[in-house]
Amino acid sequence: MKTLIKGGTIITASETIQADVLINEEKIQRLGQDIIEPDALVIDATNKLVLPGGVDVHTHFSLPMAGTISSDDHYTGHKAAAFGGTTTAIDFISLDRETLDECVDEWHKIADPLAAIDYSAHMNITRFDDRIASQIPGLIKRGITTLKVFTAYNNRLRLQDGEIFKVMRIAKNAGMLTMMHAENGDVIEILIDEAIRSGNLSPVWHARTRPAWGATEAVLRGSSLAAQAGAPLYIVHMNAAGEVDQLEYARKMGLPIMGETCPQYLFFTEDNLAQIDGAKWICSPPMRSAKDNARLWEGLKNGIIKVMATDHCPFFFDGTKPIKYEEENIAIPGKELGKTDFTKIPNGLPGVGDRMPVLWTNAVNSGRMTPNHFVEINCTNPAKIFGLYPQKGTIMPGSDADIAIWDPEKNVTYGIGLSHHRTDYNLYEGWHLKGFPEKVFSRGKLIVDGETWLGKKGDGRFIHRKPFAEIL
Ligand SMILES: [Zn+2]
Repeated sequence: MKTLIKGGTIITASETIQADVLINEEKIQRLGQDIIEPDALVIDATNKLVLPGGVDVHTHFSLPMAGTISSDDHYTGHKAAAFGGTTTAIDFISLDRETLDECVDEWHKIADPLAAIDYSAHMNITRFDDRIASQIPGLIKRGITTLKVFTAYNNRLRLQDGEIFKVMRIAKNAGMLTMMHAENGDVIEILIDEAIRSGNLSPVWHARTRPAWGATEAVLRGSSLAAQAGAPLYIVHMNAAGEVDQLEYARKMGLPIMGETCPQYLFFTEDNLAQIDGAKWICSPPMRSAKDNARLWEGLKNGIIKVMATDHCPFFFDGTKPIKYEEENIAIPGKELGKTDFTKIPNGLPGVGDRMPVLWTNAVNSGRMTPNHFVEINCTNPAKIFGLYPQKGTIMPGSDADIAIWDPEKNVTYGIGLSHHRTDYNLYEGWHLKGFPEKVFSRGKLIVDGETWLGKKGDGRFIHRKPFAEIL
């Protein structure tokens, strides 16, 4: 089957082109002026923008945490992503079994039947020994080319510096990329312990026990370990001004260090955690200050930060009260678990569907970035860095027909009514947005048509990623 998107303006990372897009089955066949194709289904995109589907490289669907589980699974999360213009999501595989292969198998069992858009996964390396070391290169056969390490969560997820150094060297030799969660685990453990003993248990203490200096220091530490290992590194969810400074320094030194941030770190501060509903904003690392917001915007503008992701990991604000989701009443224990103790609040927040619509208004309309730069950080760079390009992340002949037709004039009042996450709140509730996805295609199939969902469980395909991806 052929589909012809007619009369739109194509936005790629580098170009703005007035052209039609001819889709043949799953692929983009041709771009051109006034294409005529009698047997194609014609979609009128006059006065609309034609964007590559977004690539969100940082999601946590069905992640067990704090006695509950993140409330979007691979189906509901993919559906929310699609409504926000995102057509590829990369999740994380927990290292909670004997071998890496078993972990990958287990993750596939959960993700594959539910996936509604194309997807992949990173492997968390949260314990390290010679056996794990020997298994890492084998992940490439499974299509997994990226590893995540943590410098926080002592005795749970954290590796020691020497172990991180070893992981980086193995990754480098195999053409893989190491991703790092940058905080100072030792200081955090001490501060949390002190907060508990002093009875400082309200949500704002979540932020106060995870200082920005720890994140800043960990970015430099990660860069330094990567330099000594001769390896590339990718810093996830950058949140502090000092992190941007350290990343800028590392890049000035010619090191292959890259970074991502997430919308929540651009718009919110520790003050949000001090509100009565502060638990909604609890994620790790935490929100910082207005100065940090500003420096992150600047880091994006100057090209120091290459990727916008979400760290989507939603929980209900009040998981005792059901919401309607696809005609069913759903309630999943959430932030209320820590009503009297911030250490028991599951860490994470919704965002996979918000990323592109919220940023279009607040980055493109506000003049902070061009539409091309928007596509670059939300679609193209993540596809390049994570070995998906040019199959994903752009609009060109031969690429997958993952496309978001964007209506730049559409005004909406955003919030849970439009965001489709399976949770009971949205951080951008009541925000006025101008510019919104109208139709979304996943490999040539229309899956979102206005407010109508046409996607299906199991239609998403696992994408085998290639090693030796681009370093930007
Ligand atoms: Zn995360």
